[in-house]
Parts: sequence; structure tokens; C-alpha cells
Amino acid sequence: MRGNGSPYWRRERMGAALSDAGRAATGATLIGPPRRAARPARWFTAHLGFEAADPGLARELAVGYAEALSLLRPELALGAAALSPAGAWHLAERLFCGAAGPDGEHCVDVAGHPGFHHAPGPGGLGWGDGD
Ligand SMILES: [Zn+2]
Repeated sequence: MRGNGSPYWRRERMGAALSDAGRAATGATLIGPPRRAARPARWFTAHLGFEAADPGLARELAVGYAEALSLLRPELALGAAALSPAGAWHLAERLFCGAAGPDGEHCVDVAGHPGFHHAPGPGGLGWGDGD
């Protein structure tokens, strides 16, 4: 009666596929592909802290920090940078304009700037109403 139970039956049936010779011949692996698809990338934010004498100077410093970080790490989304008083994230204000241009680019000038919007780069496109 030994060898008639389901564990033995399964082992004998899968023996050829699980043996080294069987795997080499068929190219089968013991590890199958994951059943779930990989999660898509999600959006995260980083918060930095610094001291400034007033909100105007804080905004100026924050713009400088964001621009410097975007030079070091181009994958950062500059348009997502925001400034808020410490501990008051619900009061965050955008640092950059981010207006969409005619070719799908976004304005990289500071929020509330006068004149044309400007695409990134030294020869970036300008658009909109300006003087
Ligand atoms: Zn703009």
C-alpha cells in the first residue's frame, strides 16, 4: 500500500519534470512567474526644513533648494515643489507656475510670475500673454 497515497502519486508524476535532467530537457523552472502584476509607481513627496526670517525669504530659499535639487536629480518633478510653514502642510503653496504649454511642456518660472511662461532649458519656449 505504500506509494499509493497522494503525496507519492504526485512525486512520481512530477518526478520527470522536477528532476535535474527533466528540467534541463524541458527548460522548466521550479519558480513560476508572479501571479500579481508589479504595482505601478506611486507619487511621493519629500519635506525639507529650514529657517528663514520671513515668508518672502522662505519662498526665495525654497525655490533655490528646489532648483538645486532638480539639477542634481533630474527625475524630480520641479512643478510639485511647495512651501508651507512647519507643521501646517495644509497651507502648502506651489513654488512654481507649472502652466501647461502648447507642446505639453510646463512653465518652470516661479508661481505668480509676470509675463510669458517659460519652458525648461536655456532655449525653452515662451508662451502666453507677456510684455
Ligand atoms: Zn508660468
